[in-house]
Amino acid sequence: MCGITGYVGKRNATPILIESLTKLEYRGYDSAGLALLKSGNFNVIKKTGRVASLANEVAKKQIDANIGISHTRWATHGGVNDANAHPHISSDGKFTLVHNGIIENYENIKNFLVNQGYTFASQTDSEVLVNLIAYHYEHRTSPDTKNRFTESVRKALIHIEGTYGIAVLGKDFPEEIVVARKGSPLLIGVGKNEYLVSSDVLGFAGRATNVIYLEDGQIASITCDNCDVITMTNSPVGIDIKEIDWELENADLGTSKTYMQKEIFEQPKALENAIRGRISDDLSTSVLNGLNITPTELRQFDRILFCACGTAWHACLVAEYLIEKYARIPVEVEYASEFRYRNAPLDKSTLVFVVSQSGETIDTLQALRESKRKGFKTLAITNSVGSTISRESDGGLYQYAGKEVGVASTKAFTSQIMICLLIALYIGRMRDLSFSEGREIVKAITSLPNAIRDILKLAPQIEKIAKKYSHYNDFLFLGRLSEFPIALEGALKLKEISYIHAEGYPSAEMKHGPIALVSPECPSVILANDAEITPKVVSNAQEIKARSGKIIAITNTPELFANIADDIIAMPNLHDSVRVIATTIPLQILAYYIALERGCDVDKPRNLAKAVTVE
Ligand code: GLU
Repeated sequence: MCGITGYVGKRNATPILIESLTKLEYRGYDSAGLALLKSGNFNVIKKTGRVASLANEVAKKQIDANIGISHTRWATHGGVNDANAHPHISSDGKFTLVHNGIIENYENIKNFLVNQGYTFASQTDSEVLVNLIAYHYEHRTSPDTKNRFTESVRKALIHIEGTYGIAVLGKDFPEEIVVARKGSPLLIGVGKNEYLVSSDVLGFAGRATNVIYLEDGQIASITCDNCDVITMTNSPVGIDIKEIDWELENADLGTSKTYMQKEIFEQPKALENAIRGRISDDLSTSVLNGLNITPTELRQFDRILFCACGTAWHACLVAEYLIEKYARIPVEVEYASEFRYRNAPLDKSTLVFVVSQSGETIDTLQALRESKRKGFKTLAITNSVGSTISRESDGGLYQYAGKEVGVASTKAFTSQIMICLLIALYIGRMRDLSFSEGREIVKAITSLPNAIRDILKLAPQIEKIAKKYSHYNDFLFLGRLSEFPIALEGALKLKEISYIHAEGYPSAEMKHGPIALVSPECPSVILANDAEITPKVVSNAQEIKARSGKIIAITNTPELFANIADDIIAMPNLHDSVRVIATTIPLQILAYYIALERGCDVDKPRNLAKAVTVE
């Protein structure tokens, strides 16, 4: 959440900052702003709304500076308006800052600063920090302090509780940007005679091939030809420059209308990438070197805990079914935000997995740290190479799904399930899963991408169904066993992008409460693709029909729903291990077209943003 960018070099910073900001806009789109430092003056332009409005404003002013910072906001403290947009300037006019995160003790600091004569123009927590930096510059560092700018920032940050990724400009330091992070991502792109700053590698697209990942508790002073990094205790840190894999980070929209559409249709490829090099036909198992764990070590674990948030949490619920079924190991799934604080007692033979598309989700990152602090082996599943979670985990598996820009996760979800299936297969084959059972799963995995290609051809039919149902304001999504988490995900997708109230339940659970919602005004989407349980789901569907509820059935036994459902999306018969990945696809397409029909911005849904880096 919140995108930060910065530039220092020899070129005109303005178009570079606007371009980077546009790429980071999916991280927050409440407002945008930029600050340029030229001839000892700050030029700050901020605007409520999208980066495009800011770009129009900026174009009118035509300021040509070689150093600047910019921001796209997802508001936490203070409403969405121009005053609360970043960058913020200290009341003495000496510093300007962009911030991602939450300053938890901002009220105490604000009271202190008000007593010192500082004034405030916004309701944000961030403005407190820029004034605190100004205070430390004025009162806590003498003019002959070495690296006085960095030192003022460092001293201010010592008093901050909460999280931050910041970029700061100082009027007295016309060639320097100071950046720092704790909990929120901050990357430095290395160019020729120039450096860039961004919350995300994407901000460097077309401009840098090398990156420095700032770690928590580090502060960097950047000029056009130098970058010095120190710790919060003022010790120098050696710089580790990494190469960016631009093939993985490519985020061109191509001919697609929206990122969400593009990413839905990229799923066969994303699944192929998740599988590539990870299947052993000879042994009927998967090959998961990234786990950094020997089979002997893996055998010591008799419980697995998954921690994640949002859509990734749904993928973990599917993992519970898959791993318990094929590997016969008990699995627990926790919301990362709850796990972090609830001090759950864990058996010492527990293996922990954290799952996060961006690899920066703050709750998941903190769950990872909590788990490591307690001494548990903690592995990560993430789509972002070099992300904080991937760097801090003991090992893990990259999804290689390609950049996901649409705020509502699609290809990242199905590829997370695929990775979990590979884990289930791997551990299963070390335990009781036979060679021939393993071979069946391997066959199912390798043929899934083509099966998904066929399912995607149902899009025109699903679009028609979407048009028919787009005016309803309440939906139920029902599925049993491993299709229950898919029902949750289907409901979440619809909520996220069309703002329709939707709830996911196990089909049979519906009788215990949600059935009260059933009426001609509340359609139910019923998932029925598991032959073992389908007869029971048919009965649940009858119960809905008996109460005049409309039904859309997504099923591989359409004949069983012919006289019950109002609309049927016929699915192929797939192996049990991969079936739920396939069931997800029509739900994504349904949510997509319903949202379009209602005129919603599917890539930038209201109130949401990608990469949730605040608590
Ligand atoms: N807390 C800051 C604000 O509300 C930054 C929010 C964020 O990082 O998303 O402006």
